[in-house]
Amino acid sequence: LLGANGQLSQTIFAEMSALAASTGAINLGQGFPDEDGPIEVLDAARTAISDGINQYPPGNGLPVLRNAIAEHQKRFYGIDIDPDTQVLATAGATEALAATILALTDTGDEVITLEPFYDAYGAMINLARASHVTVPLRAPNFQPNHDDIRAAFSGRTRLIVLNSPHNPTGSVLDRETLELIVELAHKYDALIVTDEVYEHLTFGHEHIPIASLPGAFDRTISISSGGKTFNTTGWKIGWITSPQPILQAIMAVKQYLTYVNGAPLQPAIAVGLGLPDEYFTGVADGLARKRDTLGAGLRSAGFDVTTPQAGYFIIADAAPLGVTDAAKFCRTLPELAGVVGIPVTAFVHSENHGDYNTLIRFAFCKKTDVLDRAAAQLSGMK
Ligand code: PMP
Ligand code: GLN
Repeated sequence: LLGANGQLSQTIFAEMSALAASTGAINLGQGFPDEDGPIEVLDAARTAISDGINQYPPGNGLPVLRNAIAEHQKRFYGIDIDPDTQVLATAGATEALAATILALTDTGDEVITLEPFYDAYGAMINLARASHVTVPLRAPNFQPNHDDIRAAFSGRTRLIVLNSPHNPTGSVLDRETLELIVELAHKYDALIVTDEVYEHLTFGHEHIPIASLPGAFDRTISISSGGKTFNTTGWKIGWITSPQPILQAIMAVKQYLTYVNGAPLQPAIAVGLGLPDEYFTGVADGLARKRDTLGAGLRSAGFDVTTPQAGYFIIADAAPLGVTDAAKFCRTLPELAGVVGIPVTAFVHSENHGDYNTLIRFAFCKKTDVLDRAAAQLSGMK
């Protein structure tokens, strides 16, 4: 993430989306849907703007959004949250992660993440001058090994940042693994940060918020966002739920990052969070079909494919096509097949690239005809 001169480099998503735009290739790189979400949510934003909700909202977010977040946690997970003291609205999950990591770590503290890891984690750990320790997720199932989790903890561990459902691998952490993490967090007096932006996009696998496990809530910072659940990735309305003293420290940092964000979009996301259960299952079912469409297409194009349990992304191994360096291959893929994907090494520290060199992440949160076209173009490449 840091270039030779110590500067942060351009994100892989910006680079690959620019490549898609300049070549006209189908963009299965950056994860954003190509269709709008529920009309109720879009209408609520229009109404809020017409109703004059256009000035700075309160620092922790509009009450209507905080109430909806608390009700959502109760409805889906049975977690009791005080909307006035335990909820903070943020500029997407990204700001939630930034404020959390900056607020809770000092120089030299250790922060554990799974690896591959969403690129922002690495950048923020660097910005906080903390030290990044990783637990590998390996093909074919991309689940962490319990001994590797134990080995990652030390007396210097300050945070473990989880991401389940996981970007980029689409794996979902099971109850036993989450219980082990809670036990180790107690043993080493560490805090748990959990990025659950894909919480509703699971395909027959239960999403278990770690905050719902016994003994977890008091040391857990739960992060989510409306972007994935309501097809509103450009709105950047995210949130944190956590015990009040921890939240106060995070809010102190958030004030100086953005102060507040997205006033008219907050009541609209509140409407989304209150939609009936069928909305949430419908989004997941629709995505599961897209996953199967792209998975079948990639297989027929000659890739080895791991079927993801959740999320927006599918991991395809290009080794059977004779590829040895997916990073290089992805830069020529627009020319070869008119498709953009992201090399998984973008989510892995360079010293660990070995296990991931031939893997590509493709996004399937796209219209079925787009996925069909991408699959046909990839098949034609052979
Ligand atoms: N975490 C993960 C794992 C993601 O994939 C993303 C991308 N949406 C984010 C955080 C950022 O979410 P937001 O757009 O709400 O900032
Ligand atoms: N979360 C999305 C992805 O992983 C978008 C990320 C971004 O553009 N920063 O593709």
